[in-house]
Amino acid sequence: MATRPDLTSEQEQHAQALATRMQARVSETVLEMARTLVATSDATLFGDTEFALRDQALGLLGVADTEHLPRKKSGYQGSSIDCPHCRATAAFHGYRERHAESLGGRICCRRAYYYCRSCGHGTAPWDPAVGLTERRLTPAVERLATLTGAVADSFENGAELLAETSGIRLRESTVERTTAAAGKRIAAVLSGDRGLGKSKPWAWHCDAWGRTVGYIALDATGIRPQGRGGVKADGRMAYVGMIFNPLPDRERVFEKLPKPGTSMTARYVSGLYPLSAIQPRLAPLGDASRGWIADVQIALSDGGAGREDLLRDHFGRVEVVILDFFHAAEHLGKLAKAWHPQDEPAAREQTAAWSRLLRDEGGDAMIAVLEEGDIPSSASARSIREEVRTYFRNQCHRMDDPTYEANGWFIGSGAVESACKTVVGSRLKGSGMRWSESGGDAVCHVRALYRSEPSQWQAFWQRDLAA
Ligand SMILES: [Zn+2]
Repeated sequence: MATRPDLTSEQEQHAQALATRMQARVSETVLEMARTLVATSDATLFGDTEFALRDQALGLLGVADTEHLPRKKSGYQGSSIDCPHCRATAAFHGYRERHAESLGGRICCRRAYYYCRSCGHGTAPWDPAVGLTERRLTPAVERLATLTGAVADSFENGAELLAETSGIRLRESTVERTTAAAGKRIAAVLSGDRGLGKSKPWAWHCDAWGRTVGYIALDATGIRPQGRGGVKADGRMAYVGMIFNPLPDRERVFEKLPKPGTSMTARYVSGLYPLSAIQPRLAPLGDASRGWIADVQIALSDGGAGREDLLRDHFGRVEVVILDFFHAAEHLGKLAKAWHPQDEPAAREQTAAWSRLLRDEGGDAMIAVLEEGDIPSSASARSIREEVRTYFRNQCHRMDDPTYEANGWFIGSGAVESACKTVVGSRLKGSGMRWSESGGDAVCHVRALYRSEPSQWQAFWQRDLAA
């Protein structure tokens, strides 16, 4: 239930007058609703009738809007304004009507129109002031179109989802362009240094020593781009960065545990930018003034080129960058297979034994085994052993798994890998899905924001804060 706003006595008078005008206009619709109800049997009382009543009720919303609109001095700013295109003087040319798509259907807006003789552009300052989009959607319709465009598995299905759930009927291309434009705005907001929403510190969970611990992780996933004229184009990488507060591992952390039912909090950023471009977008998420103030900050990543340096260089308070345990274990699995090419059970057993050693005694112990243990007889196994040894030597400083685990820290990058699937994969990597660079980038931004803690999505749509 909406709370009743505080009105001045003058506003209250206006409200009473508006109500009288609205009542005169809606009585026919109200009667229609009554007829619909009376004609309904028990079998259709709910369901079909609910949808019919919803559409009629939305019509009332449209009536309310249109009754309210013409009384306002919509966008009149004096006899002339500065032309937003060329800065010359644009003169007032009267009031012009344009329609807009609102939650209550198509409404007609009459607003002040200015024309610039210098550059020939016409302008209605009211349109951007109330947040009408290029496709003439109100911000509420824009928000729902963006949501359905990003969560449905195609823009066509997004348009259907929108109609089914809200009664708003838009074309597929409108849903697509609206989603893309919102994605660009999200990217712009995130590349500024303010981030989104008010600073509300997170309740970081504790490690085994009772220190609060926050995590940052980074991963990439390939998507198929649109080829021009059937030409195959090279794949692009979508980066996914996240800051998250996972639930403590109850086998290692026993104190200051969160209440049962608490779920993981996370913020995501994602887009088709080069690795170097993710930092400014990730940074506001982790801004100390916005709650990224855990006692210990941990970065998790696979061994991907450049990622460790980025996490360390740009997030100065990161205490340790942990190499994903499962990536390291994968290398051991590959070596075990080459060592026992004909004997799958033996290879599995070997992988398990090495993984245990890595987890219990760390990267140094594993390197000792690779350097001092048996030497495989086949040349190919020897060459893979060399490869794995180099990898372990290069990554050893991030493989102190026994210490990390004793601290109650996570050593797997599963959270960001699953984010690659939920944020990017399920909308951008389905069969037959191909994306233009800007379209894919925009949808990554929308989905990352939507999957983030709910306050992020809401903050973005708060126009008085975003302005
Ligand atoms: Zn101009």
